[in-house]
Amino acid sequence: MDLDHIDERESRVLYELIQFIKKESQITEVDSPEDPVLVNELAGLLRLAKITVTEYASLSDEKLENPSAVTEIYDNGKAGEEAYIFKEHLNDNSIVKIMVYSEKDVVLSDFEREIVEIFCTNLFIVKSRIRLIDRLIRAVYYDHQLGIYSFAYAEKVISQVLQTSEASKYAVAFFNLFRFSNVNELLGRRRADEAMRSYAREFEKLFTEPEIVWRVGGDTFGAIFRKEHMDAFLQLIQGKRIRYGRGAGEELVISAAAGIYLITDNTDNRSLVIDSAMAAMTSAKFNRHVRYVFFDEGLGKELEHARKIEAGFEKTINNHEYFAKYQPKVSLDGNRLMGAEALCRWESDGKEVQPVSFIPVLEKSIRICQLDFYMLDHVCRDIAEWIKEGLDPVKVSVNFSRKHLSNEHFVEQLISVIDKHSVPHELISVEFTETSSDEDFQKLKKVIFALKEKNIEAVVDDFGIGYSSLSLIAQVPFKELKIDKFFVDKITDEKSKNTIMIRNIINMAHDMNMMCIAEGVETSDQIEVLRRYGCKNIQGYYFDKPLDKAEFRKRLVDPVYKTKE
Ligand code: C2E
Ligand code: MG
Ligand code: MG
Repeated sequence: MDLDHIDERESRVLYELIQFIKKESQITEVDSPEDPVLVNELAGLLRLAKITVTEYASLSDEKLENPSAVTEIYDNGKAGEEAYIFKEHLNDNSIVKIMVYSEKDVVLSDFEREIVEIFCTNLFIVKSRIRLIDRLIRAVYYDHQLGIYSFAYAEKVISQVLQTSEASKYAVAFFNLFRFSNVNELLGRRRADEAMRSYAREFEKLFTEPEIVWRVGGDTFGAIFRKEHMDAFLQLIQGKRIRYGRGAGEELVISAAAGIYLITDNTDNRSLVIDSAMAAMTSAKFNRHVRYVFFDEGLGKELEHARKIEAGFEKTINNHEYFAKYQPKVSLDGNRLMGAEALCRWESDGKEVQPVSFIPVLEKSIRICQLDFYMLDHVCRDIAEWIKEGLDPVKVSVNFSRKHLSNEHFVEQLISVIDKHSVPHELISVEFTETSSDEDFQKLKKVIFALKEKNIEAVVDDFGIGYSSLSLIAQVPFKELKIDKFFVDKITDEKSKNTIMIRNIINMAHDMNMMCIAEGVETSDQIEVLRRYGCKNIQGYYFDKPLDKAEFRKRLVDPVYKTKE
């Protein structure tokens, strides 16, 4: 470029080029609105008609004319034939090609060609820089597997929202997909990911900035959204039919357990919002009868309590602070006590603490196994005492966490506790919830067979809310099937789908020689329907809440419920 002989127009072009380089180098966003304005200005001055940026993933893609992206960054519709081509090979084998067309019948001077060259080089540098920044941002702020925001980004958004005067219009939620490990096994990783992605998209459809949904990891997600979207949010949580492929029938219903924190004018601590919403999610996950829990002060206190449990577990168990309550199981044939379930309670500082406050904490480690054996020991001691008193105890079922399935000596240990108290094996049964993975399923099967050999019956707890239900009861010799409260609550009219399901579950259980018991029965209407369908065994507040030992002893003494017809 001969700077001594440039005319007025050329010096203007030079000036504009410098301005362009200066301003372009400040752009950091991929879709900056400023970028096209700057390109338009300079392109017009240079009498250019069209600029396209084509990207190829490899040399062979370029040869085959198979671009991975083509972006038209300028076109005034007057493009001629002549083109200037700028090409750059990048380190990752990809190629960027910038094609610049001048206006028809315009022949670029040497000076103009040099300017176009500098212009293209700069365009390339700016685009590469933006691409790099974008990649860095994505690495931190996006979940690559699903292509949605990551937790790191969410933390930023929550902080930003908390700083605005509108903060109290928002809620933060965490949600864990219901039994998603089954879906992974059933569909395979790729389609399960697609299902998760589509489910997350359903939330995104509801939201506008700054509302977002993000993935925490695994099958746990989070969302920040305006409270006016709460109803729609909760509907999605309770279940949404999702497609995971294009084929017929490639769809399934996904639901989740959610914990929600409602931001108030006084909320100023991001960690508090996150911890509280997560804690509410844990509570929702544990409580099989609800799909979502709102964080409140009560839950906060309980959880603080729960945190202390982990630390103080050894001490509390040695102090015998845990004890059993017995919830009667009643046969509708004569309204007679026919069994009981032992439910754990914790007496802490003179107050009775419910399992929802401590079992989820203990279930995170094998402490739960220690507690379950403690409970079994407790129950066997009580039964031995009742036998000694000359009472006629009923069979008591004890809940066992699935964590025991990894213990090869589980059955041996269980038998040794029962035998230590000389309790007849037929007076103890073991409740397990359905398993969520195939590995668990195989282990559970082995355990139940071994228990059966020792004359100890097994109960499928909370039947009907998992996925493996049918193969589970077909292959594993459970003695009793417990219909979950979730279904019992939904007994409405005879034609409702739930009622039809319950009727068939009862029939199936009986055909398979299993006993059937309905859990969480609270009303005489429910009793009526269950009785009609042949489910004769009932556990629920309708007859009794979980009773302390002395109250339950009275039921053993007088096992017929006279007040209820
Ligand atoms: P679960 O084994 O399904 O026990 C039934 C739960 O439903 C009990 O809650 C019982 O009080 C409640 N329930 C029974 N009838 C009704 C009713 O008519 N209405 C309502 N609203 N609720 C009813 P609880 O005692 O709070 O126990 C909750 C869960 O804690 C249990 O669910 C069980 O999964 C777990 N759990 C309790 N004790 C133990 C234990 O010793 N070991 C283990 N591993 N888990 C335990
Ligand atoms: Mg149970
Ligand atoms: Mg249950």
